[in-house]
Amino acid sequence: MERTFLAIKPDGVQRGLVGEIISRFETKGFTLVGLKFLKASRELAEQHYAVHKERPFFGSLVDFITSGPVVAMVWEGDGVIASARKLIGATNPLTAEPGTIRGDLGINIGRNIIHGSDAPETAQYEIGLWFREEELVNWQPHLTPWLHE
Ligand code: ADP
Repeated sequence: MERTFLAIKPDGVQRGLVGEIISRFETKGFTLVGLKFLKASRELAEQHYAVHKERPFFGSLVDFITSGPVVAMVWEGDGVIASARKLIGATNPLTAEPGTIRGDLGINIGRNIIHGSDAPETAQYEIGLWFREEELVNWQPHLTPWLHE
């Protein structure tokens, strides 16, 4: 079963959007298998965004992501990596489609509310960075037969 890493960024937490965002993944039918609330260290943020370290916005991105608490999550389900990216919407909330989290709730690329892994390799890397294996819960919701043939 596929897993992805999602994080509600400090702007999403400060704006009181945690419940609304978690609801979107729950009601879609994905399964929450890991959840923590923390203020990320600079080291963790730099490792998380390591692919962007040469970009001009890297410093401000790390400042922002470490500026307040984040909700770090692992979600499970068939096709969850690509589907979560669709539910999240395009990087720039101004051009993200209405109906997506960023399209409905944001207006600025530097305050785009939520992170989601973009591929199986990044999901594996990010889950390992933010969670220890024993922090992830293996469980089957009773809803499963109502979501899958
Ligand atoms: P995504 O989060 O949609 O996967 P990227 O991996 O391209 O997007 O970028 C990572 C994060 O860096 C974005 O979510 C956004 O917070 C920030 N970012 C990307 N591009 C810019 C930019 N041009 N200016 C400021 N911040 C940016």
